[in-house]
Amino acid sequence: MTVKVRFAPSPTGRLHVGNIRTGLINWLFARGEGGQFVLRIDDTDRERSTREYEQGIETDLTWLGMTWDEKHSQSARFPLYRDAMERLKSHGRLYPAYETQDELDRRRKVQLSRGQPPVYDRAALKLTDAERAALEAEGRRPHWRFRLEGKRVKWEDLARGHCEVDTASMSDPVLIREDGAFLYTLPSVVDDIDMAITHVVRGEDHVTNTGAQIEIFEALGARAPQFAHTTLLVGADGEGLSKRLGSLSIMDLREQGYEPLAIVSHLARIGTSDPLEPGDNIAGLAADFAFGKMARHPGRYDFDDLARINAAVLHAMPYETAQPRLANIGADLGEAFWLSVRSNVALFSGVGVWAHVVSGSVEPLIAEEDRPVVEAAAGLLPETLDGDSWSVWTSLVKAATGAKGRGLFMPLRRALTGLDHGPEMAVMLPLIGREKAVRRLAGETA
Ligand code: GLU
Repeated sequence: MTVKVRFAPSPTGRLHVGNIRTGLINWLFARGEGGQFVLRIDDTDRERSTREYEQGIETDLTWLGMTWDEKHSQSARFPLYRDAMERLKSHGRLYPAYETQDELDRRRKVQLSRGQPPVYDRAALKLTDAERAALEAEGRRPHWRFRLEGKRVKWEDLARGHCEVDTASMSDPVLIREDGAFLYTLPSVVDDIDMAITHVVRGEDHVTNTGAQIEIFEALGARAPQFAHTTLLVGADGEGLSKRLGSLSIMDLREQGYEPLAIVSHLARIGTSDPLEPGDNIAGLAADFAFGKMARHPGRYDFDDLARINAAVLHAMPYETAQPRLANIGADLGEAFWLSVRSNVALFSGVGVWAHVVSGSVEPLIAEEDRPVVEAAAGLLPETLDGDSWSVWTSLVKAATGAKGRGLFMPLRRALTGLDHGPEMAVMLPLIGREKAVRRLAGETA
């Protein structure tokens, strides 16, 4: 069997780390199995879905490297859903109900006050033709409910193991609203059947839905696919992510300068037995992926982990990969520069600081007590500067002044870069060049 999965985001907002994690797990599983990944835009809610958000989803997936084999929009597939609706009606599994939201709320309150479960009482099933006609004459339009069989629906979940949902304790789900709009439940099943989806991989907030949806698969004469319900992410504080979704959109992370490989490595490995460190690339993460590695407790999304992984991604980034981006920000100062700078930056944009130290204007930092060393060093600076110059020069300064260790290197670093930390001076010195070096050692801003 070839694995075929789908990621079904709603284009009603930007993708955030929670829903992209679901998409990523689908992608990793599909690619790891040599299977297919379908992008299915869940735009059944015509009022809240927008074309811009749909484009945002594509932009984010593409940026993260999550290619798709097929793309479908549910809004283009209504005839299929109508056909399924008619079939369910003809099998007596879909029935019209006329209660308003207020009426349902009131009934629910009464049930709760009597200590009963707040399950829809199926009053609509008992309506006579005449009663229905009277309600319609009042101007009421029906919504449509799926008549659950009321049984223990069981499945072997790839992430949760054996699962059971008792549909007898659930309300018959509404599949179609009074304005004729399809809610997510039925189109999802119809498409899973039509697209021959083999595995439905989604968050564990859908477990109860799955009980009802398996009944719908069966009512439509299909075999349900396999399911994997993964735990949801929580914040570093253990609270749900939802309150802070705004700051966790993929778009925001991109704008803040995080690397796509850091984001996917982090999301692929949160809540698994693998260490939280970067993969070589997204394909490598797919090769490593297994549901069996996923813990049963929620994964903690911690920005400190992302920042650490991001730094590690930059630390390992070869010059060929970095070069076009360096050129883009006017910071392509050659391979030696990148190789020594990459371990000094938390975000790629941080390279700009070091490019400025080389080619911009820097105010030297020369403490009073460091003056003798700096002045002596100025007189000993080699005529031409190359990769060996720093060690030759500092040996001469050491011999001339007796300064050594930090007392030798720090005053020179501070004078030449205006900072007390940074990439190897052996690399920086020839890039800064003799002219600027001489002026900075003399205390001039240069
Ligand atoms: N649009 C739904 C969601 O994002 C899809 C759920 C599913 O994968 O079936 O929750």
